[in-house]
Amino acid sequence: MRFLSVMKVTFGRTRVSSRLAGLVIARSLSNATLQSERYDFGIAFDIDGVILRGRTPIGGSPEALRKLYDDSGSLRIPYLFLTNGGGIPESRRAQELTRILGVDILPLQVVQGHSPFKNLLNRYENELIVTVGKGEPATVMSEYGFRKTLSIDEYSSCFNDIDPLAPYKHWFTEQPFLKNNRPEVMQTKYNVLSDKVKAAFVVSDPVDWSRDIQVLCDILQSGGLPGKGVGDPQPALYFAADDLEYQAAFPCERLGMGAFRIALESIYNRIHHPPLKYTSYGKPNPSVFKNAEVILKQLQSYILEKQEEEIHELETIYMIGDNPSVDINGVQQTGKPWFSILTRTGVFRENGNHAQFPADLVIDTVEEAVDYILRKESSKIGVTIF
Ligand SMILES: [Mg+2]
Repeated sequence: MRFLSVMKVTFGRTRVSSRLAGLVIARSLSNATLQSERYDFGIAFDIDGVILRGRTPIGGSPEALRKLYDDSGSLRIPYLFLTNGGGIPESRRAQELTRILGVDILPLQVVQGHSPFKNLLNRYENELIVTVGKGEPATVMSEYGFRKTLSIDEYSSCFNDIDPLAPYKHWFTEQPFLKNNRPEVMQTKYNVLSDKVKAAFVVSDPVDWSRDIQVLCDILQSGGLPGKGVGDPQPALYFAADDLEYQAAFPCERLGMGAFRIALESIYNRIHHPPLKYTSYGKPNPSVFKNAEVILKQLQSYILEKQEEEIHELETIYMIGDNPSVDINGVQQTGKPWFSILTRTGVFRENGNHAQFPADLVIDTVEEAVDYILRKESSKIGVTIF
């Protein structure tokens, strides 16, 4: 318990208080720092099917997360969310998770499927790009710094009759984006009718599959200018993830972005040659896990108030997920220092382990998973603080 009270002073939100505490606790502080440095582990949580189902917390997730903070609400164990979902900027997702889960979550702790799109800024910063998916895909890309970004809703509205089924889509009668961005304004602002689209980004799960497949086929086979025949080269196409299915609020799995990719690719390859070229991000791609390692190290340096160069590599990183082919497969491909924990609150519900992608540990809920981790890590250093 002594350790906990010292941590409160050292890493509390009001860092000034640690200065005021001054020399009186200097010795204790160094002991505390030494002990925290011995916690060389981090945790990555999947969200859908582990932390939340829809917007409802599951598996004791609020209680599990609270164990990673000290009594004053300051972070003491580096952890992040590693989700293939998205559709809103990381800062807004962090606020939303903070509200639902009752702990203070930093934008840095939210890694979404589309987060790696930031790395493509150099290539497309000033190029016309079209974004696809639920939520606010164009806002996500604008916040990453892309300057000529249109959602597929906005882009499609610039072309008369591009979607022959539009008159039958009564849910499209309200289009809030048109209040500020009328088609004629967008046509002029971005030269939509003459500027080629250089890339399309599927940021989150597409909403209107029939329109999106139609318009993406138009963009991709025309070389970036719908209605102007067939042209080369195919604009680049990026997917934030490739999940075939995921666990949402409905009792059984829903079709994800991977299902949309299969539909688009199958249709495109029937109407066009050469076949569709694309790049998919998200788990199980090992680059996602490598990137998470870097962020966890940054969080460790934030917790210990040290420069990143002074921080040791984490010895173990736990991935807690519900989807064997995405979460567990990704850990297996990445290897050390990752350790996989499969919960039974989402896609996976079986009694034993998964046959094709067996996890290092199978457990019922995320709270049990966190208890297991804290017990194991405490026993490693011989201090019972959890
Ligand atoms: Mg999941």
